[in-house]
Amino acid sequence: MGGSAAETGYCPRVSPGRRCTRPACACAATATLTYVYSDQTAVLGPLAVYAEPHCYDLCAAHAQRLTAPRGWEVVRLVPDPATLGPSSDDLEALADAVREAARPRPLAPVGPDPVEIGRRGHLRVLRATDA
Ligand SMILES: [Zn+2]
Repeated sequence: MGGSAAETGYCPRVSPGRRCTRPACACAATATLTYVYSDQTAVLGPLAVYAEPHCYDLCAAHAQRLTAPRGWEVVRLVPDPATLGPSSDDLEALADAVREAARPRPLAPVGPDPVEIGRRGHLRVLRATDA
């Protein structure tokens, strides 16, 4: 290991209000780590507006070195600073994709619409159309 991020001068102290939550690290937080215990997933995203339970602010250096507990998955919503250059559109597109995936899908139609061929009381006798 050797030296905290603060000692290396890696991270600028751009946000005096929010600090990295790692012990002995005084760098400004640039990302928020959220543990989703139900999914065993650690989500590293942009700095959260509000401090929430299971959320930990991290500086750039600690966010980069983040490792998940054994059996956990790490989802990074923050671009690697080394490959910086994405627009906010990329993040929005990603967020949209996540929302799209989470949205419940309507039931898929099964074949062509059945054709009503008769009624018996309150029951309808249906036959599928020949495609
Ligand atoms: Zn840190």
